[in-house]
Amino acid sequence: MRNYGHFIGGKHVAGKSGRTADVFQPLDGSVFGKVALASKAEVREAVENAKAAQPAWAATNPQRRARVLMKFLELCARDNDKMAELLAREHGKTIPDAKGDIQRGLEVVEFAIGAPQMMKGEYTEGAGPGIDIYSMRQPLGVCAGITPFNFPAMIPLWKAGPAIAAGNAFVLKPSERDPGVPLMLAELFLEAGLPPGIFNVVNGDKEAVDAVLDDEDIKAVGFVGSTSIAEYVYSRGCAAGKRVQCFGGAKNHMIIMPDADMDQAADALIGAGYGSAGERCMAISVAVPVGEDAANRLMDKLVPRVEALKIGPSTAADVDFGPLVTAQALERVKGYVDIGVKEGAKLVVDGRGFKMQGYENGYYMGGCLFDNVTKDMRIYKEEIFGPVLSVVRAKTYNEALDLANDHEYGNGVAIYTRDGDAARDFAAKVNVGMVGINVPIPVPLAYYTFGGWKRSSFGDLNQHGPDAFRFYTKTKTVTSRWPSGIKDGASFVIPTMG
Ligand code: NAD
Repeated sequence: MRNYGHFIGGKHVAGKSGRTADVFQPLDGSVFGKVALASKAEVREAVENAKAAQPAWAATNPQRRARVLMKFLELCARDNDKMAELLAREHGKTIPDAKGDIQRGLEVVEFAIGAPQMMKGEYTEGAGPGIDIYSMRQPLGVCAGITPFNFPAMIPLWKAGPAIAAGNAFVLKPSERDPGVPLMLAELFLEAGLPPGIFNVVNGDKEAVDAVLDDEDIKAVGFVGSTSIAEYVYSRGCAAGKRVQCFGGAKNHMIIMPDADMDQAADALIGAGYGSAGERCMAISVAVPVGEDAANRLMDKLVPRVEALKIGPSTAADVDFGPLVTAQALERVKGYVDIGVKEGAKLVVDGRGFKMQGYENGYYMGGCLFDNVTKDMRIYKEEIFGPVLSVVRAKTYNEALDLANDHEYGNGVAIYTRDGDAARDFAAKVNVGMVGINVPIPVPLAYYTFGGWKRSSFGDLNQHGPDAFRFYTKTKTVTSRWPSGIKDGASFVIPTMG
């Protein structure tokens, strides 16, 4: 049994609050470990360590900071198998998918190694007589990340990589469901040469989150999780005067035009709808075929594919997806399937009864496929976050576009078509932050930014890409005049260059 505490000031520290939570192994439902839930005082201890370490780190030149991250990448490659297995055991996703989770996080660290370039300011020589103007980017000080269970490596690294590269110290409050990998990342950062106190992990629940939000020394908070908590974190963090960005839930649509390659579209829906048991914020949960003929052709391809999905323990080879993260998540997702049936949607494939032989206490369910879902149903409006795909039949392209545009979430969306005009029109008009054209999970690469629209995100700047450096730095602009011998007397009007 593992006992997870915190990682503060370069050391593992046992929890002192007396409160703990069980960490489960979804593949068989066993208790894998216990995680300490931090009190306000423990969060404060992490912040004090971070605050003490940060000035020297900020004064370290950006290339040296980047070299620590290079070493960190090497160490993550060395320990990749170990980390992926731990991740799969605590989360439930398959080992290849866990490796993808780690890799997408490391790609942002690779991008953050460009900090010397990203931190460069601007310079204007001779903006006026003897006047030069320049700007510089400076770190904020102590920043924090509050992250969800579904990407325990990727999202902490999306937050911490650029923040640290920019010269900040970081306090991570990861999900209490799978704390093992974030603590492993902390050990590897230290081994890579990151000074103690620059990357801290405080495990916990709402009490720790509130302590982060209220702490005066934390200047910026990056959150990822469900929309209701995102909204709460955003308003409380902003009220405390912090810079806050919060990324929330999703209901990602895939529009399938009548001219689409149906085999390609079905493949895309199977992978993007059911991969990681649908527990991805960029999972496709709604398929919108345009026209009855396209809908019927799509269903003919989808049904046998959903029925043939291979479900199994996360550590097994050759499995399409593993169990859900917790018993509660399993009940919630099955509950949504019950709701869909009551609402009158046609449940074409029912995975509720699936049992994994030899792993009867694991949190498994089979893939579910609904047809004839309509936009007034709860299973359409709400995020299910499980292996459940809803098909909403649209009569026209415009009706399909309106569905995506009118939905309260706007994280990702995709269109499958061979028609460049339709694809271009869709990309221009759709009211969603990340768009795929014949690409089902359009997660932008590290050097672009990631972020949804509408109730999928709160705050102005996106995650990773250039926005990450904007979020984790503040700009200072210096107007200087040399030589100082010019004497033009006191002026009482605002200076202009007119
Ligand atoms: P969650 O909202 O339950 O938890 C996220 C974080 O908030 C965790 O660290 C958790 O400890 C903390 N938290 C939970 N309840 C809290 C409360 N009452 N007060 C304060 N803090 C609280 O989310 P989750 O179940 O871990 O993750 C799944 C959700 O995350 C889904 O909605 C998914 O769409 C979303 N997600 C979004 C993105 C994105 O980039 N938009 C990426 C990944 C996941």
